Amino acid sequence: MKFNKHLEEIKTYEAGKPIELVVREFGIDPKDIVKLASNENPYGCSQKVKDAVSAVISKMALYPDDSMIKLKDALSSRYEVAKENIIIGSGSDQIIEFAIHAKADKSSKVLVNSVTFAMYEIYAKHVGAQIIKTSSRHHDLEEFYKLYVEEKPSIIFLCTPNNPTGDALDAKELFDFIAKIDSETLVVVDGAYMEYGAYKDETKKVNPEELIAKFENVLYLGTFSKAYGLGGMRVGYGIADSKIINELYKLRPPFNITTLSLEAATVALSDEVFVHECIANNFLEMKRYEEFAKKQKIDIINSYTNFVTLCLNDSQNSTNIADELLKKGMIVRNLSGYGMNAIRVTVGTPEQNSRLFKLLLELL
Ligand SMILES: *Cc1c(COP(=O)(O)O)cnc(C)c1O
Repeated sequence: MKFNKHLEEIKTYEAGKPIELVVREFGIDPKDIVKLASNENPYGCSQKVKDAVSAVISKMALYPDDSMIKLKDALSSRYEVAKENIIIGSGSDQIIEFAIHAKADKSSKVLVNSVTFAMYEIYAKHVGAQIIKTSSRHHDLEEFYKLYVEEKPSIIFLCTPNNPTGDALDAKELFDFIAKIDSETLVVVDGAYMEYGAYKDETKKVNPEELIAKFENVLYLGTFSKAYGLGGMRVGYGIADSKIINELYKLRPPFNITTLSLEAATVALSDEVFVHECIANNFLEMKRYEEFAKKQKIDIINSYTNFVTLCLNDSQNSTNIADELLKKGMIVRNLSGYGMNAIRVTVGTPEQNSRLFKLLLELL
């Protein structure tokens, strides 16, 4: 059977291995498995969210509120933007998909960082667009600008803080960069880890309200999957000028967010204390990773997120190490597919991190 020719170019995205798979493959007891592979919040979500979700279970027979009014109201007051400036997606992944379909086709170019979130490239290939990558591993805005001038991309993706490296752009430099981009080019600012970056360093904090007040060609992305501890609920959002939002809406399937997910995300926004505590713990635990790396003489990238990237030495092989960890029930992300001899580890709870250090000491 023949399929869409564009699909030939796509390598299927490999998500962090789920616990269920490790149970089946290695016969390990689920309670002995630790997943530090997908940057979920190791402390879970707020108790208020759990209670609220239980309370709406009786509504499961009905389709969800497709206007998503409660969540839009909550996001609207959280970010001080109008509801017309917001679109909600089944994860911010879905908004990335909408943005590419809205703006690119097979004659388009999409500019991304050399090492960044893999889905930009995959969605761009859906429409047959050409991917242009920087050579620098860290976002180098001068190089981005040079490639913008030379290649005239229709979309530029900036991921700050960046996944899978953890580094972040200075917010002022980001604004200065966007000011130089013509209004026909869509600039997507993916802030999946912005809550962490903003906590660690105010100068990294990108305020979506300011962004869309200044620029009509910017789409800001946020998610409930990371700091808010709702990866399993699949809720993300886009914030942009209403003209962009209206176009993205044309691509949205109806009822793309479930009743339970809408409720969870709305209530999660009301418990900032919980999120704040988790983020504070994250950076306390991250210090332990920095000390561990220093002692083991491994490079660690300064991270503004809830994960660390350990760049291994030449005598160590990230694929082997990730495989050996997996056999012991520890799931981390091997970055060899990104051309790096490195592993990315989500910063877990104190116990989870201690366990990883112990296993790594045996392997390194
Ligand atoms: C996790 C992540 C997302 C999207 O996550 P969703 O669960 O789809 O909301 C987007 N961008 C980056 C960089 C991420 O790491």
